[in-house]
Amino acid sequence: MGEWVYRFGGGKAEGGAADVERLGGKGAHLAEMASLGLPVPPGLTIVCDACTHYFNSGRSLPEGLKQEVLDGITAMEELTGRVYGDTARPLLLSVRSGARASMPGMMDTVLNLGLNDETVRTLAVDSEDPRFAWDSYRRFIQMYGCVVMGLDHEVFEEILEDEKAKAGHEYDTDLCAAEWQEVVQLYKHVIEEELGEIFPQDPHLQLWKAIGAVFASWMNPRAATFRMLHRIPEEWGTAVSVQAMVFGNLGSSSATGVAFTRNPSTGENALYGEFLVNAQGEDVVAGIRTPQSITEEGRLASGSEKPSMEKLMPQVFAEFRAICTRLEAHYRDMQDVEFTIERGKLWMLQTRSGKRTTKAGMKIAVDMVEEGLITKEQAVCRIEPPSLDQLLHPTIDPRVERHVLGSGLPASPGAATGEIVFTAEEAVHAEEEGRKVILVRIETSPEDIHGMNAAEAILTTRGGMTSHAAVVARGMGIPCVVGAGSMRVDLRNETLIGVGGVTLHRGEVITIDGSSGQVLRGAVPMIQPALSGDFAKLMAWADETRRMAVRTNADTPQDARAARDFGAEGIGLCRTEHMFFEGERIHAMREMILAEDEKGRRAALAKLLPYQRSDFTELFSIMHGLPVTIRLLDPPLHEFLPKTEAEIEDVARAMNMPPAFLARRIDALHEFNPMLGLRGCRLAISYPEIAEMQARAIFEAAVAAAKRTGEAVELEILVPLVSLRAELDYVKGVIDRVAAEVGAENGSPIAYLAGTMIELPRAALRAHVIAETAEFFSFGTNDLTQTTFGISRDDAAAFIPTYQRKGIIEHDPFISLDFDGVGELIQIAAERGRRSRSDLKLGICGEHGGDPDSIRFCENVGLDYVSCSPFRVPIARLAAAQAAIERQGKRSVSS
Ligand code: ADP
Ligand code: MG
Ligand code: MG
Repeated sequence: MGEWVYRFGGGKAEGGAADVERLGGKGAHLAEMASLGLPVPPGLTIVCDACTHYFNSGRSLPEGLKQEVLDGITAMEELTGRVYGDTARPLLLSVRSGARASMPGMMDTVLNLGLNDETVRTLAVDSEDPRFAWDSYRRFIQMYGCVVMGLDHEVFEEILEDEKAKAGHEYDTDLCAAEWQEVVQLYKHVIEEELGEIFPQDPHLQLWKAIGAVFASWMNPRAATFRMLHRIPEEWGTAVSVQAMVFGNLGSSSATGVAFTRNPSTGENALYGEFLVNAQGEDVVAGIRTPQSITEEGRLASGSEKPSMEKLMPQVFAEFRAICTRLEAHYRDMQDVEFTIERGKLWMLQTRSGKRTTKAGMKIAVDMVEEGLITKEQAVCRIEPPSLDQLLHPTIDPRVERHVLGSGLPASPGAATGEIVFTAEEAVHAEEEGRKVILVRIETSPEDIHGMNAAEAILTTRGGMTSHAAVVARGMGIPCVVGAGSMRVDLRNETLIGVGGVTLHRGEVITIDGSSGQVLRGAVPMIQPALSGDFAKLMAWADETRRMAVRTNADTPQDARAARDFGAEGIGLCRTEHMFFEGERIHAMREMILAEDEKGRRAALAKLLPYQRSDFTELFSIMHGLPVTIRLLDPPLHEFLPKTEAEIEDVARAMNMPPAFLARRIDALHEFNPMLGLRGCRLAISYPEIAEMQARAIFEAAVAAAKRTGEAVELEILVPLVSLRAELDYVKGVIDRVAAEVGAENGSPIAYLAGTMIELPRAALRAHVIAETAEFFSFGTNDLTQTTFGISRDDAAAFIPTYQRKGIIEHDPFISLDFDGVGELIQIAAERGRRSRSDLKLGICGEHGGDPDSIRFCENVGLDYVSCSPFRVPIARLAAAQAAIERQGKRSVSS
């Protein structure tokens, strides 16, 4: 291998799958396939570094690169018996982009390099097929014209459409040699007209220009947007592969196609793909003709009349299927492959891990464990935790009647409802306004990704399961229906016309069922999916692997029940204040707050006690013996106070007080900075009768629930906003006293732990002292982030986005834990706390408890559990398992 160039072909290769960083995905796997002895046209890959060099040196190719490329081409000439630039036996080349991360269709590729007015004639004679030669030449001129010379596709499309109309042809394949030759003349003409330049005839000039242009395509706007959405660094650059051409457009025994080794939508273990006879390159995905199915099974499922590859070319099909099986076994993953058949000979042009829906990913992972291809741990690591969200997506209630407007292919599952929009810009605009939309297009192109990202779902009237819309939607996890040929988009009148001529206008509501392919009128009732089958299996493997427990933050019985269905192993945070807002309770709460003395407060608290007790009894019964952490009242009291005059009058009447007197009491409770004011344990210390009532409600409920369910819940009482050990000592004194009383009343002692929230920097630093009293710590990372940064979360929106835009911070610290600062405080608190109490229980209960990166951090710090909102519980279970596997891996490497 050279400094800039790695070669492949003839059954061997320099580099391979391990060199993705240097060779890009496409180059690395072309090399790998060549080494495996698979039929790959010979070629070479220019490393990604050359791209960086290209941009840093004012867009010129690095010194030494040209010679290495020419040497590589010489090797290709030896293998093919053809010569690049030769008029007698011309070698034709493709120049292909391929970055480290898969960026499908975002950058450019040029095919058929080396063609010019002379070589095209040799090709015609050699192949005994002039039509093929002129078809290839016109493709080359168009691609080169767009990618290298910067012309618009439309310029060429228009000429072609005119020609077809003139000759009365429907498809490109209908054009004969003479007609293509005519198109070539017109193409060359339009280039001269538009640019005042002649289409370059020198194959070497073509080559250097094309390599430069493919490097340059790394910076085109759609690639830049894609990088931003997928957080791909600009520094990576793209590799460029230069490869000998093979031809799928050499008549009826030639074809080109794309396939997945398993079904990317359902995960079913069945080869799945599409191909086109007598076609080249992107014809299949571009939706020029409707592609044919590769397998007979696929043909039957799509109801197509056109023969499958299995029927049409049985021998090539058998070879292809065997290669797919071999690639899967080699990569131990589902592959997405591109291939071309030249006069009955199969050539592999690309392989990569296939994008799939979460549902398919789940099934493939589980199946591959059962097939012995991967381990359970590998299966657990195959699923991106946040993508589980897709499975929690609603589907259409099967019992409701469907008003079907039309149907297409079920390209990406899940159902969604929204207003019809016809452009990507409009989708983006609507999202900003908070409207839900369905992006409806004839077909999508990489320019549309912004809009696709903003839409609830995507509908196209053209294209197959491997079309741009289908691939991108599956990647984004949004429902998608493609190729709805029975429907028509009328862009001029901004209407969507369904079966039977039903016409819908922009802004009208439709529902897309990405699982059945149906398009329905209006909004349709949805249901939640069952979390069984592969999901349950994979989650069970995750549960076997993880070390940390996963609890939920739940304040209500509904939350608690949902969380248990999702596999929560307890409640990590129950915020009691939510229990004071409903109906009657708020009145009693207001009476308590506004009471003039302890006696008044106790009278109001006595009214609240039964409410709290019955809430807790229900919660404990649902959690059936699992741990439940209850936080004592935390927020500043003003949050409960009446705000409007009418509300004040209501309360005044109920409390038998003049409204003006009440208004003065409310004024007196005013705080300048309530989040740093009378809240948390400061409330319990100022008004111990509040903590007393809460403790009594908790303990009495625990006794009642144990009687009801036969299991005693593991009680943990959490004292919020402690910064001094003396604060905790004081409040714990109150709790202990009430526990003793309730224990005595019931004739048996009550078991519970008392602990504190670590949410103030002082508490983190003094953790060893606080842990002398506290039996557990729960990291309240929302407040800890606020108090560490001195940023009020409620006001952060005013400047955090600006900070992100200006590169001052990367992530919003309220969403993704600040490992360096807040994280260090957590680490300090965990270490110091355990130093004075070795069995100190540690958990996290902020928003971060459901964030996979933060969960990894918690695993590494050695927390005992994470707690998150009910819908994030499955995500947290999986993320915790992956974190444990990763940590073990690191340990075994270092030991
Ligand atoms: P993308 O990254 O957009 O998929 P590719 O470099 O894979 O671009 O090229 C697109 C298509 O062009 C391929 O799928 C293949 O059909 C065709 N192609 C690329 N190189 C060759 C080649 N050497 N011979 C024949 N067809 C090729
Ligand atoms: Mg490709
Ligand atoms: Mg807090």
